[in-house]
Formats: sequence, C-alpha cells, structure tokens
Amino acid sequence: MTSGIEFFQSNAGARIYRIPLELFPILSGYAHLVFIDDIVALIDVGSGFGDCNAQLEAGMDELRTSYGERANWEDIHYVLITHGHVDHFGGLRYVRERTQAEIGIHELDLPVLANYEERLKIVENRLRAFLVEAGVESQKREGIMILYMLNKQLYSSLPPDFTYDAEGMRVGPFLITHVPGHCPGHVVIQVNDVLFSGDHILKKTSPHQAPESLSLYTGLGHYLESLRHVRRIAGGIRLTLGGHEGPIDDLEGRIQEIEALHLDRLEQVLELSNEPMTIAQISQALFPGVEGYHELLAIEETGAHVEYLSQRGYLNIDNIDGLDFESPAPIRYIRSMGADRLKVAFNNKHPEPAAAPEGI
Ligand SMILES: [Zn+2]
Ligand SMILES: [Zn+2]
Repeated sequence: MTSGIEFFQSNAGARIYRIPLELFPILSGYAHLVFIDDIVALIDVGSGFGDCNAQLEAGMDELRTSYGERANWEDIHYVLITHGHVDHFGGLRYVRERTQAEIGIHELDLPVLANYEERLKIVENRLRAFLVEAGVESQKREGIMILYMLNKQLYSSLPPDFTYDAEGMRVGPFLITHVPGHCPGHVVIQVNDVLFSGDHILKKTSPHQAPESLSLYTGLGHYLESLRHVRRIAGGIRLTLGGHEGPIDDLEGRIQEIEALHLDRLEQVLELSNEPMTIAQISQALFPGVEGYHELLAIEETGAHVEYLSQRGYLNIDNIDGLDFESPAPIRYIRSMGADRLKVAFNNKHPEPAAAPEGI
C-alpha cells in the first residue's frame, strides 16, 4: 500500500514531505514534515479524528523505511500550528503524549488551544445571535447549531509551549508572518523559497470567511489585507503548500484570483441589495441549494461580505427603527448611495498587474 507521500525540496536544501490525511469524512488535507540542517519540524498535526493519527504514524513510518529519514517522534524539535482550526491542531493531544517537541502557535489563536471550552462557549453564543440577526428561521437555526457543535467536543484544552510572537516571529530557520482573516492567529511559514500557507491560500477553494462579529480579528477586511501582505513576499516564493489541495506554483496569480473572486462577490451582494435583504436571503441567492454544514458556511461567508460592505458605508440598515438592541432580531440591508466607488476603492488596494505589451 502506498501512502501517497509527496517530496519537495527548497532552494537551500530543506527536505519537505507532505503526509496526506483524512481529517474528517468529507475533508482531506496534509501535515508537513520538514528537515533542514539538523532541525526537524512538523507543520500541523491533523484533526485527531478517526484514522487521522494512524495515517500520520504511517506517513512517518514510510519516511523512515522508504526515504531513510530520522522521522521518529523524539527527533522532532518543533510542532508549528498554522492556525486554530481543529482540522489542523486536533491531533495535538496524541502528538503531545509522544514527543518533547515544542509546540508553537500565534498568540491570537493561543486561547483556542489553551482554553478551548471557554472559546467554544463564547463562539457558540455569538453564532446564535448572528443567525438570528441574519434572518435564519428558528428551526433551521437549531439544526445548524447541532451541526456546528457536532465535532467540536472532540478536543480538550492543551496549552502550547510558545507563541510565535514571543519568539520574534522566527523559529530556527522558519520565518513566520501573521495573516489574520480566515482565523485570528493564522500564520504562513516560510523556509527558503517554500511557503506553508495553511488555509490562508489554497489552490482551488477560496478560503472560508466569517464575519468579525463572530470572532475578533477575522473578517474579510483583515483577510484581504493579509493577502496583500503575502503578495509582497510572493516574489521570493517558488512553491506554496497549503493545508489542503495541491501545491501552488504561481502564488501571485493565485492571490489575484482570490481577490477577484471577492470583488465579484461584493458586487453581487450590492446588486442583490437594491431591495432590502437579510444575510440569509442574500446567501440563498449567492449559494442556492446548499444544505447542512455547507449552509452555515454559506451564511458566514455572506455575513463576512455584508459586514465588509456595511463597515465601509456601501450598505445601510433598512429596518433600523424596528431594531431593539436588547434582543437580536433580523436585520435587512439596503444598498446606499455611492456604492459605485467599491470597484475603484478595491482596485486601488489590490491593483491588477501591469498589462503585457501588445504582441507578446
Ligand atoms: Zn481553517
Ligand atoms: Zn483547514
């Protein structure tokens, strides 16, 4: 049986192995094991769900037997978590019991690891209020909340050993850049000309966005700013490896695609808001027919775009007089005057590359 490990090398000789994992029944992804000089680092650890830990073990076993690497738990110096989502850190308890490696995360995601139950309770309450304000009717809300809580009880708090911030955003040969948006403490990790992008940039999917009202330091505004940040270092990156999906060869091009997708989606939301609309109504128009957990993702994604637009004055609240801020109620948004500046303002921040001269 082949485990499907992929091997890459950086321009300065780091050996990088991609270990495929089934994170959840409908979600696959990767842990990466990196050998550079005498340092061994594991980047993300999988979900810990189902066979995920066994797949991680099988991957390390193959590195020892087929590649001759010192891939034992006691050989690992660092476990670097890209962000505080359970499909990337859920296996930490299993890993902690087997290695003395130091576990690191960005300080804005530290509470998710160290105080998981508290974070879960806070987010659960915010999500309930958000779904009411988004105009999701009560029976559907309950169904969504049950789905949301389903896999969340698998993990229990486990404090990391250090934060990237306290290390000056550098761990041995690894350069860490904070890229909030998809998650408050999301980072990308650079070694030589290779970038580990977690869920900040993926090859096919545009990474999921949720409104900042659910979790501070997320939100589309932060996310787009973080894309600009990575664009500035993209010239030095030959290969980008995300936490899911295939390797990315053209990082700058992929960033531009994601930016264009969000501008397009923002324009669609404005178009739909010619009439007063709730987030749930806009979501149904943008993502017709989605069900179950994907419906929650669609509503959050829409909420992130509506929040971006209303923060910047492109949308107004149509039913402000009927809102009682003591208890959440559905909010209807309407396009404001002057919404045409969106494209200009967006493209000023995210310029398209200079057009190639004609004839080339
Ligand atoms: Zn994620
Ligand atoms: Zn993920």
